[in-house]
Amino acid sequence: MKEKINFNNVLFADFHIHSRFSRACSTNITFDNLVKWAKIKGLQLLGTGDFTHPLWFKEIKENLKEKNGFYYYQDFPFIITGEISLIYTQGRGRRIHLVLLVPNIEIAEKIHSYLDAKGRRDYDGRPIFKISGDEFVKEMMNISKDIEIIPAHIWTPYFGVFGSMSGFDSLKECFKEQLENIHSIETGMSSDPEMNWRIKELEDKAIISFSDSHSFWPFRLGREATIFEKTDSYSGIINQIRNKTFVATIETEPAYGKYHWDGHRLCNFSCSPEESKKLNGICPVCKKSLTIGVDNRVEQLALHKKGFKPERTKPFYKLLPLHELLSLALGSSMESKAVWKEYNSLIEMFGNEFNILLNVSREEFARKNANEKIIDIIIKNREEKIKVQPGYDGEYGKAMIGNAEKQGKLF
Ligand SMILES: [Zn+2]
Ligand SMILES: [Zn+2]
Repeated sequence: MKEKINFNNVLFADFHIHSRFSRACSTNITFDNLVKWAKIKGLQLLGTGDFTHPLWFKEIKENLKEKNGFYYYQDFPFIITGEISLIYTQGRGRRIHLVLLVPNIEIAEKIHSYLDAKGRRDYDGRPIFKISGDEFVKEMMNISKDIEIIPAHIWTPYFGVFGSMSGFDSLKECFKEQLENIHSIETGMSSDPEMNWRIKELEDKAIISFSDSHSFWPFRLGREATIFEKTDSYSGIINQIRNKTFVATIETEPAYGKYHWDGHRLCNFSCSPEESKKLNGICPVCKKSLTIGVDNRVEQLALHKKGFKPERTKPFYKLLPLHELLSLALGSSMESKAVWKEYNSLIEMFGNEFNILLNVSREEFARKNANEKIIDIIIKNREEKIKVQPGYDGEYGKAMIGNAEKQGKLF
C-alpha cells in the first residue's frame, strides 16, 4: 500500500489546461467554473492555460490578483501558463507542443511581443509558430530564466517530442545545446513514469503530469496532476520541478489514454506492439500504415528493459476519475443523472474527489452507508486493479469489470 497523503502539507496542481478560446474546448470555461470544479476535484493550484490568447489574457489581468507570482481568483491561486505548438522542418516535418510556466504578467507580455513578430496568437488558445525547439527555448531564456518550458504529452504520435509521426528520437536532437534548460517532461495520459524510466535521456529530468483538460468537468480536470510541497510562490513551484523535490504525481492507467496501442479508429482495429510487429505495422482492414501508439514507441526508444527502476524516482498514484468508477458500478454513462447523483452525494460526504479516491477508508465509507459496489470499485481503483481496454488512434481506453478481462490487458 502506498502512503496516505496528508492533504494539509501539499498542493495538488494542474498546469496544463485550456480556456474557452482554445479549439475543441468547452465554451463555458470561465474562472468561476474552473475554481468551482478544481475545489470539488481536490486541486489547490491551477495553471491559467492559454496566456497567449489576447481575450483570455485580458481576463487574467482584470480578474486575478498577484502575490509572489501566484495569481488569485478570489481565494484560489493560479500560475500563468499556456501551450505553444511549433511546426517546422528539421530534415522532415516536426510538430511539437510545449507547456510554458510564466513568472508574471510583465514576462508574459514580453513573450507576446516576441511571438507577435513571428505570427498570430488570436485565433486559438494554442497558437502555432514556425520556430524550432532549440531556438524557441533560447529566445525564452533570453526573456527570463524563470520561464519553465515543459515538453507536453511527449509520446503522443502527432504533437509529442517523441511522437511516432512527427517527433524526434531524442530530446537532444530537438533542443540541441538548449537541452540543459529543459528540466522536466509531461508524461501525457498514454504513458506513466514506469514507461518513461526506460528512456536514458529522461534520467535527470523531472517526470510530471497534468491533465491537458479541455473542460472543467472533474473527469477531465486533474485526471493527471502533480503534487507539490506546500508553497505560496511561483519560485517555490519552479524550484521543486528543477530540483525534483515535488512529492508525487497522479497518473491515469496509461491504457486509458487515447494513444496507448497501435490502431485505426475508423477501421475499428487496435493491437498491441507485438501484434503490430507481426502485421508489419499495416492495418488488416484498410491495408494502410497503423497509427503507432505510445506503448510501441517507448519500446522503440527504450534503453532499459520493462520493469527497470532508476535510483531516484517519485511515487505516483494510478487512478481513474471517480466518474469512470461510478459509471462502471452503476452501468450507466459518465454524464448520466444516476452517476452525477452518486458523485454529488459522495462529494457532500467526503469533501473532494482526491480524498475519496486516495484516502477515505472502507470503514469510513461504510459508516456513511456508501453503496457497497461503489466502495469496492473505489478500493480496487486505489489498488490499481481495474482493467482497461487500451485506447488507440484518438479513442480513449475503456475501463472494465467482471468477465471483461478476456478482452483487456490486466493491470
Ligand atoms: Zn498539446
Ligand atoms: Zn485501417
